[in-house]
Amino acid sequence: MAQLHRILSRQLVPNQCIALVCGQLRKMTTENAHKCKILVLGGGTGGCTIASKFISKLGKNQVAIIEPADLHYYQPMLTMIGGGMKELKEASRPMSEVLPKDAIWIKENVSKIDAKNNAVTTTGGKRIEYEFLVVSLGLELRYDKIPGVLEALETPRSGVASNYSPKYVEQTYKYLQDTNSGKAIFTFPQGPVKCAGAPLKACLISEDFLRRNGKRKNVDVIYRTSLPVIFSVKHYADKLNQLCAVRGIDVGFQQELISVDSAEKTATFKNLANPQETEKFEFSFLHVTPPMSPPEVLKTTPELVDGAGFVNVNKETLQSQSFSNVYGIGDCTNLPTSKTAAAIAAQSGVLYQNLLKDIEGRSSEEKVKYDGYTSCPLVTGYSSVILAEFDYSLTPLETFPVDQSKEHRAMFFMKKDAMPFLYWNGMLKGYWNGPQFLRKILHFGVGR
Ligand SMILES: Cc1cc2nc3c(=O)[nH]c(=O)nc-3n(C[C@H](O)[C@H](O)[C@H](O)COP(=O)(O)OP(=O)(O)OC[C@H]3O[C@@H](n4cnc5c(N)ncnc54)[C@H](O)[C@@H]3O)c2cc1C
Repeated sequence: MAQLHRILSRQLVPNQCIALVCGQLRKMTTENAHKCKILVLGGGTGGCTIASKFISKLGKNQVAIIEPADLHYYQPMLTMIGGGMKELKEASRPMSEVLPKDAIWIKENVSKIDAKNNAVTTTGGKRIEYEFLVVSLGLELRYDKIPGVLEALETPRSGVASNYSPKYVEQTYKYLQDTNSGKAIFTFPQGPVKCAGAPLKACLISEDFLRRNGKRKNVDVIYRTSLPVIFSVKHYADKLNQLCAVRGIDVGFQQELISVDSAEKTATFKNLANPQETEKFEFSFLHVTPPMSPPEVLKTTPELVDGAGFVNVNKETLQSQSFSNVYGIGDCTNLPTSKTAAAIAAQSGVLYQNLLKDIEGRSSEEKVKYDGYTSCPLVTGYSSVILAEFDYSLTPLETFPVDQSKEHRAMFFMKKDAMPFLYWNGMLKGYWNGPQFLRKILHFGVGR
């Protein structure tokens, strides 16, 4: 409570704390009860972006955000850190500097969502009632689901690394530098993951590193994925298969990592097409992409989620299928598209317009529709990117008037230098809804 008061006292004058002014986080009759107009759960990519948009429109204290973390990470940069192209400190900023200044930040975890009664409870015991709710809680990394992985990640000199967590990402470049011979193995788990291109990016960058440093001939590079294909969109998959063949990468499909032994330095895979069959490798270097799951707290309102625990939203409007005053955005939703920050940029424009209609009493107007746009800059080495962009139907939706399935040098610098700038200064401030307008200009208004 003391913490909430400290945060509130920076945002609200004392009288406002008890004023029954519509739309402000206001204290109700009991100590721990509060009200607000828009409540955003999670201050990551989706939560911060949407909060900024509504603060700009509705003004000070109209939006409250529940977010426990001290730091906000630009996660797409983790791939570059794993390849030694960026430092970890460049990927994060204090949450206090990133969340919109005029929003109310409740620095706690959500412990219960009671969507039937328009209320959320925090781990500190506060109950916050809302008029509109935006759920943006991301995905949980579940290294614990593969026996031996957490222990290996924590063991010094194990050779096991993972770009997916800020805690383990620096091990990637460190262990890569230590790898002089043997096998370098890269994994892809079962189930939805964020940025499904990132495991392959880790592999291609590492392969390029070994080649550039004269070690490639002594190291076997092995990519093992649980998926039956290398990438979901054929337009890019064809090129990626070709690239792996040319670069001598041993690719295996429907192979799931099931255990790691850090003492023996072995990794065991199950053949998903024939589950009796397993394959054990001794490795010098192992990059693990963890299984991921939606946050457990979502299950506290079962009507809010689908069978797999993801926020169940209309795939075009982003509105909850069960609660008309609830919207979902980003990785925690069941939107059937690749989970990326680029997708969230496009989703944020749609969500903003649709929720604004509800707030302004224009719910009967036709809602804006999300087409599933997502993008993945597939970094293929230290100077090239294949920029995959596509929609729900897995049809390419490319911004630039060139064949983006080819490797491009300019797109590498766009990924490395321009995109972080756009993220911190455009997207998180609510000004970037994806490249739709740019695509239209570059294609002379033809197409979507
Ligand atoms: C290695 C890697 C590479 C990537 N590469 C790219 C790329 O090249 N391009 C691209 O577009 N995307 C990429 N992504 C994906 C992109 O970063 C994510 O899709 C995006 O950041 C997800 O945003 P989100 O808001 O859904 O979740 P997050 O940004 O993860 O935010 C969720 C927030 O919810 C908070 N939270 C969790 N539980 C609770 C709780 N109980 N109570 C309150 N708050 C809670 C968390 O602290 C977090 O701040 C990459 C991701 C990774 C890991």
